[in-house]
Amino acid sequence: MKVGFIGIGAMGKPMAQNLLKSAKVQLYIYDVNAAAVAELAAQGAIPCRSPRELAEAAAVIIMMLPNAAIVETTLTGEQGLLAGGTAGHTIIDMSSVAAASTHRMAALAQAKGIEYIDAPVSGGVAGAVAGTLTIMVGGEAAAVQAIEPILQMLGQKIYHVGATGAGDSMKVVNNLLLGINMAAVAEALVLGAKSGLKPRVMLDIIKESSGRSYALEAKTEKFILKNNFAAGFAIDLEYKDLDLAMETAKNLDVPLPVGASAQQVFAMAKAKGLGREDISAVIKIWEELTGVQVRE
Ligand code: NAD
Repeated sequence: MKVGFIGIGAMGKPMAQNLLKSAKVQLYIYDVNAAAVAELAAQGAIPCRSPRELAEAAAVIIMMLPNAAIVETTLTGEQGLLAGGTAGHTIIDMSSVAAASTHRMAALAQAKGIEYIDAPVSGGVAGAVAGTLTIMVGGEAAAVQAIEPILQMLGQKIYHVGATGAGDSMKVVNNLLLGINMAAVAEALVLGAKSGLKPRVMLDIIKESSGRSYALEAKTEKFILKNNFAAGFAIDLEYKDLDLAMETAKNLDVPLPVGASAQQVFAMAKAKGLGREDISAVIKIWEELTGVQVRE
């Protein structure tokens, strides 16, 4: 089976490597980062010079790109996927983007007889490496069923949420909560540290108490306590996801006061130059304000 993969980044690299492990998959890759392409080519992937060339080679194409603007040029550019893809092909966009953008891209693809599926993921780089991602799928049932064996190489929990764009909507809801929880963990741990509590004690107790969350469990031990803020999941990307939530909420007339505060926390972190660091680095804002650090 010939599969194409575009976007060999923090998530895309381990996902592509999981596909490479399958004897059934011949993997074609494209990324603007030549070093990322070279690394996977050395492991058996076949590099392509453009999305168009990749679409000419592979019938199923996965994208794992930073944002909707990049997804849109990857599809519609002169050397884009739609210039190379033919009827019967399937494009799976696993990036976190707005449902509205997916609807536009799906209409363009479908006009050429190409299936278009949104399948954003949760579970972070650790889940991508382990092949245990949660995958939220939107699209027509038969097309989704046809690509399920590929999704099973990448994730453990695969949910067909609904029609095109439903996977994206689900991901926006999840990442609204992630952003809120991450900002909440940061301010609460700094309050505890300033009160004289040991970070390790706070983590052990909250993990067993009603204040626990994924943001606490996944980010405190490995990132905050270890003073290791290499992304992970970059602040720039979570800011984008909070932006998607705010845009969706505006269109649907839903107030998001807590989400808006969280988004401003991520805006502050970006303004401090922390955009490429992991989302747990938002704690540095409070650490600088209060003069305490939450470290092992
Ligand atoms: P990343 O920035 O590490 O990787 C993005 C990759 O896309 C890079 O290799 C980059 O070179 C490549 N790229 C950029 N522009 C390109 C173009 N025009 N053509 C081809 N390649 C291009 O990002 P990531 O953390 O891997 O995230 C990818 C997507 O997955 C985002 O939409 C993000 O919101 C989502 N996501 C990330 C995580 C996480 O924990 N990192 C978790 C779930 C979902």
